[in-house]
Parts: sequence; structure tokens; C-alpha cells
Amino acid sequence: FIQMKILLNNNDLNEALNNVKNLGFVPTMGSLHKGHISLIKESLRKTNKTIVSIFINHRQFNNKNDFTKYPRNKKKDLSILKRLNVDFVYLPNAKDIYDYKRTKKIKLKKKDKILCAKYRTGHFEGVLDVMDRLVNKISPKYVFMGLKDFQQLFLVKNYIEKKYKSRVVPCKTVRNSNKLALSSRNLLLKKSALSKAEKLIQNLINFKKSLSKVKDLKKDIYNQKIKLSQLYNINIEYLELRNKKNLKATNKTKNSKLFIAFYLDKIRLIDNI
Ligand code: AMP
Repeated sequence: FIQMKILLNNNDLNEALNNVKNLGFVPTMGSLHKGHISLIKESLRKTNKTIVSIFINHRQFNNKNDFTKYPRNKKKDLSILKRLNVDFVYLPNAKDIYDYKRTKKIKLKKKDKILCAKYRTGHFEGVLDVMDRLVNKISPKYVFMGLKDFQQLFLVKNYIEKKYKSRVVPCKTVRNSNKLALSSRNLLLKKSALSKAEKLIQNLINFKKSLSKVKDLKKDIYNQKIKLSQLYNINIEYLELRNKKNLKATNKTKNSKLFIAFYLDKIRLIDNI
């Protein structure tokens, strides 16, 4: 029985990973839930060694309050990881991650400035930057990421697989018994907001099923956005149907996903169905 190694800085990391092959990597921001756990179990199944990172990357937060409020549960996280028999947990400080300057700034292409990229300026640039740095330091064979954050997965997979040998493995979204996707930010919701979110998602799942029978999809989706905003008295940032291969806007249900971002108690939640 080998104890989980806790790596607090880059020295620890380099020492531990020296000679490790067939490594699986699960990047997280902590406050681990069953969604994270499913990614970790996938890595444990698929690889010889698994490393989980917990790093709340301030540079990807476009809103200071969101960063301050973001849930932090290190003790509980470590006990979950230990129980799962993870090999390594990497808990870097900002200075470990941002230990070198980039010569060329990361920029999104114009066609990628859609959905969350349109509303969270600088967010994905921050995500790509930190993922580039993490993969560069860790050199995993596989990186496991959730389909819950579809646009993030899409952008990171394209960026990382072009630059490194590491492959990014999409993992399916874990939902609670009322169909709400698990998210660390759900911890910030009051009970009433949580049940609103659950009803909204159930409504959207049924709406998506009904879409194939509709002629003017665009109008129907717009009407649904207005209807749901009023019904639940919430701000829906976007509700859009897009092709799941290339994220282009589409009027066909084939190979499509319905993308939503909305606010509840000033907490921003996203999902795709
Ligand atoms: P986070 O800690 O929120 O940055 O998420 C870390 C990883 O877990 C990302 O790849 C997410 O897409 C993934 N993830 C978060 N929530 C879920 C979920 N409900 N089901 C599956 N994967 C998830």
C-alpha cells in the first residue's frame, strides 16, 4: 500500500514524476464532487498513475467577487483523494505556476469568441494559459476533462493536442438525481435557488427533445429563453443551439447541443444538453 504523495511545489512535482510513465492528469479547482470523482476514476482505470491538481487560477476569473467567493475545501478534498487511492495531488502556489513569462500572449480566434468567451472577457485565455503551464510541467499521457464545461474542453483539447503529445479525454457530465449538473458553485446556492436550477434544467431537457419537431428552431429557442427568464425570474445570459463538432450555430438538431448560461443568487451556472 503506497500513500498518496502531496506535492506542494515544483520541486516536489519534478522529483515525484521523474520516471513516471503512462500518467493521467485531472486538473481541478477543488471542492471536489462526484463529477470530479468520475474523471479521477476514469484516469485510475485508464492509466498507471494518476495526478490531480487543485489550483484556483485567479487569472481565469473575470470577476473578482466570483474568485473571492469560490468555495475552498482543501481538507475534505484531500480525504476524498486519499480514499480514491490517487497517486499524486499537486497543490501549487501561483508562483509555481507563473514561474515564467510568455513571449506571445494567448489570444482567442474571432470565431471562438462565442458563448462564455463572449461574456467572460479573458476567461478562456486564462484557462488556456494555466492548462498550457500545467501540461508543460506534468507531461501527462492523458488529461481528463468534463463535458459539463463543453466550450472549455473544446478550446483546451484543440490547444493542448496541437502543442503536446498529451491527449485530452472528454468525460460525461455527472448530474444529481434531479438532473442538475454537479458544480462546485452549486455549494453557493440557497435551497430555493438550487431547486429552481433543477426545474430549469429539467425543462430544458424536455425542450431539447421537443425541438426536432419544430420548424423555426431559432425563433422557438428565443421564445423559450424569454419564457424561462420570466417563469423563473432569472437572467439567462445565452441559450443557443450549436453543432457539437465545431460549435458553429445551427438550425438542425442533428449533432447539436443546447448551451445555457444563467444567473441565480448572483451565481453564474452553465450547462449543455
Ligand atoms: P473545476 O474544478 O470546476 O474547474 O472542474 C474540473 C474538471 O471537472 C473540469 O474538467 C470540469 O469539466 C469537470 N467537471 C466539473 N463538473 C463536472 C460534472 N458535473 N460532471 C463531469 N465533469 C465535471
